[in-house]
Amino acid sequence: MDAQMKSKLQVMKFGGTSVGDASCIARAAQIVARATRENGVVAVVSAMTGVTNRLVGAATHAGAGDAQAGTALLVALRGQHHDALAALVPTGDARSAVVRRIDETLAEGQRLFEGTALLRELTPRALDTISSLGERLCAPIFAAALSELGVRSVAMEATELIITDSYHGGAEPLMDVTRERCEARLRPLLKENAVPVATGFVGATCEGTLTTLGRGGSDYSATILGAALGADEVIIWTDVDGVLTADPRLVPDARIIPEISYREAAELAYFGAKVLHPKTLRAVMPAGIPVWIRNSFSPEQPGTMISRQGRSIGGGVKALTAIRDVALISVGGPGIVGVPDVVGRTFSTTAELRANVLLISQSSSQNDICFIVAASDAQRTVDALRREFAQDLSHEVVDHITVDPKIAIVAVVGENMRGTPGIAGRTFNALGREGVNIIAIAQGSSETNISFVVEDGAMKQALLATHREFGLGGANSS
Ligand code: ASP
Ligand code: MG
Repeated sequence: MDAQMKSKLQVMKFGGTSVGDASCIARAAQIVARATRENGVVAVVSAMTGVTNRLVGAATHAGAGDAQAGTALLVALRGQHHDALAALVPTGDARSAVVRRIDETLAEGQRLFEGTALLRELTPRALDTISSLGERLCAPIFAAALSELGVRSVAMEATELIITDSYHGGAEPLMDVTRERCEARLRPLLKENAVPVATGFVGATCEGTLTTLGRGGSDYSATILGAALGADEVIIWTDVDGVLTADPRLVPDARIIPEISYREAAELAYFGAKVLHPKTLRAVMPAGIPVWIRNSFSPEQPGTMISRQGRSIGGGVKALTAIRDVALISVGGPGIVGVPDVVGRTFSTTAELRANVLLISQSSSQNDICFIVAASDAQRTVDALRREFAQDLSHEVVDHITVDPKIAIVAVVGENMRGTPGIAGRTFNALGREGVNIIAIAQGSSETNISFVVEDGAMKQALLATHREFGLGGANSS
């Protein structure tokens, strides 16, 4: 079919589990091949499952002066990727070209581990380049698997496509330049009916220094490319059937939500529902490009569509999410009433540490500010606050800075909650009936979520009670 007649342009991202081994890659390549019969497709691939974690682990060893872990890992990765390739592309020149490319990437990895070990310093820049190896090993294999199915495809390093600022470990795209690059590099391939297979997760500065978009950032890569090309849709292929009303391991009658709005999905992502990288939707929101979450292991399922509208299911509450591995920090004492800078100093301190604050609550009597950070940030946050408030503590203006690690946040999310009275009341009544004690509450003025803090041990019960209260599992949602 002529490229001009292709009905849609789709960007398809395949996550780590969807390219986890040769049979997963074959399944993913089939999905792309089928789509190309009607549509133009750009594929974006993650590293094979677990590879990025292992690379980061070995990079840390190298930073401590030990290149051995890196060397051993590269040997293992060589075996893993060669095996996958051999299973997908049994013979031919195409295969030797990919083998060469894999070996070049591994050789670069070896130099990076050795250089880092020699300097005994893991710079953010080196960490980004080491972390990128998994995607760069995977993309050529995926492209070769597509060629095997008769689909013309070209593996591409996203360093040529996604141009970012220089914030290593969490770079932001510069969309104007990115758009130009994508027009120049991807559009011609699409016109020739070829499928570009881009590495997820990575980009580069204008000067060409490799950056990454942050862990789990391949989702974001897909929406950046989708927005740059003005795609009709972005499909995130993963290992779950879509966005669920709650975590099914905790709430057995959780079900798939067919349609959800950008805001709702972003809220869920932010609150730890592991379906999307939190920045993913930013890129497509201005243009209103829909994003699908679909299961590459059961492509017959429709999945969840994330769009500007989303569609309401009943009484406004769409989904619940819970975050564990967080800690509640509280700064307070009767003396802080009327001390205007306590709030400011508290959050300048967290900002300096780049500790991500997930929820803030202050009682109107003002004698306690509490907020939540990731458990991994808790100790250093408390230490920094104790330093910041050392004087105030000794003068008893501030009488405590405490941390409670045994808590969880539960968030009730739904865009149509806005202006629907009674949702907070129903939530807290349901929790009251179950005897769940609420430690803190927050509702943003956007009214798309109500979050509350409970003891970790009460989290499951809180989820079950609210899921039931809003009829999220049954056919008749209230
Ligand atoms: N491979 C990268 C990571 O594990 C990016 C991704 O999978 O989205 O963080
Ligand atoms: Mg991943």
